[in-house]
Amino acid sequence: MDERFAGEKQYYVNIKKVLNPDSIYVLVDKFNQLDEEYVPFDLEMIHEKFNPMRLLMRREARIAFEDMCCLAERQGIMLEAVSAFRSYSYQSMIYMKNWAEGISLEEYQRIRDRVSARPGHSEHQTGLAVDINDLEETFADTQAGRWLANNAHYFGFILRYPKGKESITGYDYEPWHFRYLAKAWIKSLDQSLN
Ligand SMILES: [Zn+2]
Repeated sequence: MDERFAGEKQYYVNIKKVLNPDSIYVLVDKFNQLDEEYVPFDLEMIHEKFNPMRLLMRREARIAFEDMCCLAERQGIMLEAVSAFRSYSYQSMIYMKNWAEGISLEEYQRIRDRVSARPGHSEHQTGLAVDINDLEETFADTQAGRWLANNAHYFGFILRYPKGKESITGYDYEPWHFRYLAKAWIKSLDQSLN
């Protein structure tokens, strides 16, 4: 057993349907599931400069992401989206893609659940999440990875699956995965501190 997951709680139990899928504050995780048909109403393509794969995000998150990429670029750091909105069916394909003969579904899920969401449980289906540059843990130690860790929150993004929190999030550390949570909230926090 991986010690980072020691005392692991039970995931994918008592699953609730998400009732506010269009809210910027929507919670999608291993206990809260989006409908199979859910697609955000305001998906837009991220500017091509930061988006070689023609990916989509919800309007507000797309604007915040581009603002963040522009500032990073002015500081000599190149950011680009490598995954953003993913449909339920695409997530289903990603989740199952490594399943091989001879492995039971339970065994596959036990391993796969740490690095990939089951369909309906991925933040990428909300259109508010984005994977940036490089899907490797070593990304954390690159200039871009460090810049994001220090600055993404100013643009309304949080690092969703931090190191040391695996037993809470249920995911391995993902220094590349950011979730938009709204600048308005951060602004009001700033004001309350002033
Ligand atoms: Zn991701």
